[in-house]
Amino acid sequence: MIKHHNYALGLTWMFILFVIPLPLIQTLAVGLPADYADEFQAIYFGAIAYSWMLVAIYLSTRPKWLDRLIGLPDMYVIHGILSIAAIYLIYLHQSETESMGWIKTTGNWAYWLLLGILAYSLIFMAGWLTSRVPFIGIIKKWLEPLFKHEYSIWIHRLTLVATVLVFIHVILINYVVAITPFMIWFYAYSGFVLVAYVWAKVTNTKGSFRGTLTKNIEIADNIRELTIRPNDDAKVTLLPGDYVFMSFPTIKGLRELHPFSLVNSPTDSKNIVLAIRGDGDFTRSLDGVPDGTQVKFTGGYGRYDTFLSNQPQDTNIVILAGGIGVVPLLSVVDAHPNRNIRMFYTAHREADLIYGDKFKNWQNREHFQIAQQVGRFGISEVLRSLPNDWQRNTLFLIGGPSKMMRHWKRELRRHGVMAGQIYSEEFDW
Ligand SMILES: Cc1cc2nc3c(=O)[nH]c(=O)nc-3n(C[C@H](O)[C@H](O)[C@H](O)COP(=O)(O)OP(=O)(O)OC[C@H]3O[C@@H](n4cnc5c(N)ncnc54)[C@H](O)[C@@H]3O)c2cc1C
Repeated sequence: MIKHHNYALGLTWMFILFVIPLPLIQTLAVGLPADYADEFQAIYFGAIAYSWMLVAIYLSTRPKWLDRLIGLPDMYVIHGILSIAAIYLIYLHQSETESMGWIKTTGNWAYWLLLGILAYSLIFMAGWLTSRVPFIGIIKKWLEPLFKHEYSIWIHRLTLVATVLVFIHVILINYVVAITPFMIWFYAYSGFVLVAYVWAKVTNTKGSFRGTLTKNIEIADNIRELTIRPNDDAKVTLLPGDYVFMSFPTIKGLRELHPFSLVNSPTDSKNIVLAIRGDGDFTRSLDGVPDGTQVKFTGGYGRYDTFLSNQPQDTNIVILAGGIGVVPLLSVVDAHPNRNIRMFYTAHREADLIYGDKFKNWQNREHFQIAQQVGRFGISEVLRSLPNDWQRNTLFLIGGPSKMMRHWKRELRRHGVMAGQIYSEEFDW
């Protein structure tokens, strides 16, 4: 029986929203002096905001265990929404409490800094938002040549300065510091996130895997295929459909890690094959990277395989792929030669339909069928072409631009497909 619902995301939200702030609220409720009764609520808001800021920082370290549970794209959505909510609570906290001296100054600095970072990040760092609100997307496209993603990352990191300011703000408040149980939780949460952050930075810099670029060829207009051979000591765990963060540490301008999905099934070969479309500075510079260049990468990330493994192995798979979003799904098809798979693959131009040779090979399989064309398939066209009993016993995997993914999810749901039967992974964060 197909599992129709995925509770992990909902539970994660509940845990973050309610359980994490609870010890801070509880210890404050017991320990705050009655003189401040008028400000209790605003103080709780401040504590909740701080705990959410810490969670947002923790999520930015891309914890692998959570990625396999809910996926990085959803983690980034949580990160963004939590940050917005935290800033709103800080606003309420600030307008309903009175403070002086450095307590006031650190609080104000943190608030204005966060507000500035928020405004900047909503335009440049929130793909989940820009892909939904065309107006912000247009501003982003317009300003992006000036504010490159690499700079945006550094501006975004000022959140850490704001968090330190909030930390100082709290430890300057005598009547709060006097509440020992609160301070234990406060230091424990802050310390945990500090260690997790530093650890993630160390592993990203030193502990990430190394490999060598063995092949770099153009496979279509503006799309390159890169083959990377991980070093022998690189103990990489990759699953079909995964993506890795990859960079070239020896080449100026290509040192920042970027996410790219696997083309091949990692169960068949140790090599990592990526297909990359030239969308910006990093991806358009790849034609100049020679074979033999050292590669740094981290991963694997992604949940296509977890999603499939959590469901009965005799379910059918329908793949809806658009443009470069087809890449992780190639890896999935590669890894499942015996599953019933129907694939619908579209692109804007004939020339963008890549890996025709792979599809030809796979069509020799007994259980694989593909339909590909320029321009969208209609929902009825897709559903009509499936055998009668398929809809209930089928998993739908979608890969493509966010707009296309949302379109298919809406249409599938409208035609009775349950949310738990559909999985997609966005390329815009
Ligand atoms: C999970 C995932 C898998 C992906 N798989 C593929 C793939 O297989 N093939 C492919 O061609 N593309 C893939 N992408 C997209 C690819 O990562 C971006 O196109 C690339 O990072 C753009 O970098 P750039 O400097 O060339 O362009 P820029 O002009 O800097 O960026 C273009 C857009 O890409 C996004 N972006 C830039 N840098 C990063 C980064 N470090 N992390 C996250 N997003 C970033 C930003 O939203 C930006 O607006 C994937 C993205 C994600 C999130």
